[in-house]
Amino acid sequence: MTDRFRIVVTDHVSESGLAPLLEDGRFQVTRIDDSATDAFQAALADADGLVVRSATRVTREMLDKGPRLKVVGRAGVGVDNIDLSAATERGIAVLNSPAGNTVAAAELTMALILSVVRRVAEADRSMRAGEWARSRLRGVQLKDRTLGLVGAGRIGSEVANRCRAFGMRVLAYDPYLTAERADDLGLALTGRDEVLAHGDIISLHVPLTDETRHLIDAEALALMKPGAFVVNVSRGGVIDEEALARALTDGHLAGAALDVFESEPLSPESPLLKLPNVVLTPHLGASTVEAQELVAREIAESVRDALALGDLSGSVNSA
Ligand code: NAD
Repeated sequence: MTDRFRIVVTDHVSESGLAPLLEDGRFQVTRIDDSATDAFQAALADADGLVVRSATRVTREMLDKGPRLKVVGRAGVGVDNIDLSAATERGIAVLNSPAGNTVAAAELTMALILSVVRRVAEADRSMRAGEWARSRLRGVQLKDRTLGLVGAGRIGSEVANRCRAFGMRVLAYDPYLTAERADDLGLALTGRDEVLAHGDIISLHVPLTDETRHLIDAEALALMKPGAFVVNVSRGGVIDEEALARALTDGHLAGAALDVFESEPLSPESPLLKLPNVVLTPHLGASTVEAQELVAREIAESVRDALALGDLSGSVNSA
């Protein structure tokens, strides 16, 4: 069959999740996990669709190497690794799978919040170094403290629910959330500065856009309560890492927990690596078996429907 849609899939997208494409005779799926290879470039040359996770940067040059491309699917929510304007200019629809990893990212946020306030990672390192430092490793409790939520979409609102279950108050800043939606979620919306000033734990759940880049800069960090904690499971560029390292070093902040970084992998030179009050994970927000299967299935269905039925309802650009 020569008239099948050719789909190139990279970045170790879950195979079982791709069933909607693999089991549909209208599609021919080629999996090449490393997009830096010649084999990937060759496959792109006659591909109708490309599916990536976050590792591959879909640049203008890459899109130029796929003259037949009609669809780029992102298994996951963030599309900041895809040049949206280049795709739009070329008439390529960019689709994402926003819902599949919400719970995984919210659960990792809770793991990081608990780890940083109870100094779990630090305690683990200390025990492995032969210590039994019970008095030094005292933490703080979550009950009766305030979560300062920046971004109250899918993940932020799930984090809010989980924090309420720990007896926390929740204050949220999200200029795009309607009052009605905030009511449905039971969230008290307020301004950015109020959230920063009153949150004991500031948790970030915004997309990375021109508006949110360095949303948490030196000035925003200075507004935070002395002894506050910052948690970021959204996108690295949302925090100015150098300013954060300074606020942690000078003792203004009590700690931070970060899953995402301005440049990934994190440079071995990063000052964050030297700070004991920082918990670091290598972009694991969506890394659960369940989330990877769900996002792969979600994107496989959207790519299938976009190519076979012309259904672009899941498109994040206006191609
Ligand atoms: P979402 O679109 O459901 O929610 C984002 C919210 O941010 C929206 O409610 C939006 O109104 C709000 N927002 C936009 N600009 C804002 C601003 N300037 N100030 C305050 N709020 C603003 O997205 P989501 O699914 O909740 O994902 C949130 C973030 O988490 C994204 O950056 C996504 O890429 C990231 N993410 C990371 C991982 C990971 O592995 N660490 C996994 C999944 C998602």
